[in-house]
Amino acid sequence: MVPLVSYSNIVCKNAISRSNLPGLDYSLNPYFGCEHGCIYCYSPSVFRDNEIAKNWGKFVKAKINVVEILDNQLKKLPKGIVGISTVTDPYQPLEGKLQLTRKCIELLSTQKFPISIQTKSPLVLRDKDLIRSEGFDVGFTITTLKEDLARKLQPRAPSPSSLVQVIEEFSDRGINTWIFLGPIIPEINDDEDSFLQIIDLAEKTKSEIIYDKLNLRPWVLDSMASFLEKERPGLKDRLPSLVTRDSDYWHRLKVKLEDLCLKRGVRYKAAFP
Ligand code: SF4
Repeated sequence: MVPLVSYSNIVCKNAISRSNLPGLDYSLNPYFGCEHGCIYCYSPSVFRDNEIAKNWGKFVKAKINVVEILDNQLKKLPKGIVGISTVTDPYQPLEGKLQLTRKCIELLSTQKFPISIQTKSPLVLRDKDLIRSEGFDVGFTITTLKEDLARKLQPRAPSPSSLVQVIEEFSDRGINTWIFLGPIIPEINDDEDSFLQIIDLAEKTKSEIIYDKLNLRPWVLDSMASFLEKERPGLKDRLPSLVTRDSDYWHRLKVKLEDLCLKRGVRYKAAFP
């Protein structure tokens, strides 16, 4: 049987690069590719390559020299917040074996660079000995807490309910936790019940909600086409107009979501204000 995901090693020239993402100064991606294979992922658009986009979710290349390169770069760079990671999940399965993310965190922490982690995996708990209340925040992407839907949207990512205890544990340890509620997909995960499940978790763990809509960068609609056809025939054609930042849909949805957060006393902000 052909394996679903192929693994290989590559060497990188840079370990961290400047980031324009809100709240980050640098981004660090120890892996190229991502096993989780979320159908809404827009990371491939960063690489602007049709082959990469077509095969996204089916390959993972470990940047095998990332720690050594990072060590060299940190000697020359001013301090700033490092986002781990921005176009991959730093705690995907291969990290369990290679520990590249862990070694990068050790190094960054020693050099006193603040670290902002974002993941969908409970494997982050392995590194709780390194992740302290000072100089760290940890974000968890929860697109939905509905297991059936999660399996369809992010087929090889850990179950979102496996994150609940992890967020609680980090929060109990005084670590700044946040939940990335996104992408919000019209008529798929935008109902009040779905929001409330996630807002309840944010309330319980004192986590901020950072939300975002579906981002239809190149290749995203293609990647979602068969899911949309099965779940909501006809939605694919309507999505582009629904998910613009100035659409009535998005305006109404933001009001609804923010109102629910306010009622629960949960802090919130849009990922891209
Ligand atoms: S976990 Fe993140 S980077 Fe990986 S496939 Fe999903 S959305 Fe893309």
